Amino acid sequence: MRYLSTRGSTSSSRDSAGPTFTEILLGGLAPDGGLYLPESYPQVDAAELDQWRRLSYADLAFAVLAKFIDDIPPADLKALVTRTYAPRVYCNGRSETQASEITPLRWLERPNAARGEGGLAILELSNGPTLAFKDMAMQLLGNLFEYVLARRGEQINILGATSGDTGSSAEYAMRGKAGVHVFMLSPHQRMSAFQRAQMYSLQDENIHNIAVRGTFDDAQDVVKAVSSDHAFKARYKIGAVNSINWARVAAQLVYYFKGYFAATGGNDQRVAFAVPSGNFGNICAGHIARMMGLPIGRLVLATNENDVLDEFFRTGFYRPRATSETHATSSPSMDISKASNFERFVFDLLGRDPAMIRELWAEVDAGHGFDLSGTPYFASLPDFGFVSGSSTHADRLATIRHAFASWGVMVDTHTADGLKVGSELRTPDMPMIVLETALPAKFEATIVEALGRKPQRPAGLQGIEDLPQRVEVIDVDVDAVKQIIERELR
Ligand SMILES: *Cc1c(COP(=O)(O)O)cnc(C)c1O
Repeated sequence: MRYLSTRGSTSSSRDSAGPTFTEILLGGLAPDGGLYLPESYPQVDAAELDQWRRLSYADLAFAVLAKFIDDIPPADLKALVTRTYAPRVYCNGRSETQASEITPLRWLERPNAARGEGGLAILELSNGPTLAFKDMAMQLLGNLFEYVLARRGEQINILGATSGDTGSSAEYAMRGKAGVHVFMLSPHQRMSAFQRAQMYSLQDENIHNIAVRGTFDDAQDVVKAVSSDHAFKARYKIGAVNSINWARVAAQLVYYFKGYFAATGGNDQRVAFAVPSGNFGNICAGHIARMMGLPIGRLVLATNENDVLDEFFRTGFYRPRATSETHATSSPSMDISKASNFERFVFDLLGRDPAMIRELWAEVDAGHGFDLSGTPYFASLPDFGFVSGSSTHADRLATIRHAFASWGVMVDTHTADGLKVGSELRTPDMPMIVLETALPAKFEATIVEALGRKPQRPAGLQGIEDLPQRVEVIDVDVDAVKQIIERELR
């Protein structure tokens, strides 16, 4: 399997093949600024789906990923995937037997054909070490990085900024890994006590927490400034693990298959997925699973008040917002102003025309948007299964209350966005599967606001706020970050 860039550089010359999976694993964007995608999507037929239906999560992950990775020997890939998707990593206080499914499906309302009810379910994706679905991909990334770096005798130093979930997920995935250091910037005193404790209590020598006296955007700007110093970047082998990383998208394909099998009795049925969305990484995997032949009838994109993506799917107008226009909401992991993975979907929507992508993203990069309304592309959106909706803080509170009262299920604020929009766009002909992107324990304050009680915390995480913390607090200062990196790698 070779990869190409959505902006065309890697596929421009006919005789030179594009990069392989491990060649794009450690990088971010393609050299031309585009995003990597496979040259074509491997197809899965009915016979193969029948076989896959019976597989454990780890074996299914191997079957799916092997279609995209042909430069890691199968036995090695199998070992990596088996270690990654082990019940003990996803047990979250439950027994390993309970955790054996890795991503259990929980019916809220079972399908009832006689009554014309398609059913409504939650696919649990947040039982990993940091209680958010990002662990599903990041845990694999950690093991892949370690494997590839060891094989090449190389090292990488991951530099990132986090507002909460991504940083902890990356740190838990990379802790103790040979050849990898993580330098993670976070906004000083702007994360929840739980989120701070999750990151700062890690005592591993390869994890470096840096709190910046400023906002998330300030931290992000510092990361960009360090990364744009090319000499420094090369000398200290600075890398990233952001959501455009292809391996993260590939890892997320697996649970669409798993969720489909859990919700259906045979491969002639269709399902809908509702996906709380921010950077379009999660739902992009759903789109690709569908392109591979998984019978996904509908992909429901849910946003919060930051509705740049909902606006596109309703109107055809993609209008990235300025940071100042981005609302701080109670589903903060979806507070984005532009969706970094969206280019991958638009590439497919436009019939994979890199020239057109270059044109549209020249507009985006110049701070404008683009408008596909009135074009055949916009008219073809239903062929891709997409529909969308948005939700507000009041909707989240109402949904959390409704789920608790009706089904005895406590959902977090992001999953509530998905449940709200998914419930509205349900149809009787297929089950609606809402992807759970975090556990309520991560967002205690809003749960208390909605239900007047605190969410349960998984056993191992009780009292983590009281553990000793390792963090260095600095001003918004590019040189200070460089000095820390130099000092720690000496
Ligand atoms: C990252 C995240 C999202 C958004 O996922 P994307 O892949 O960026 O669309 C939603 N919910 C939670 C809890 C997250 O951490």
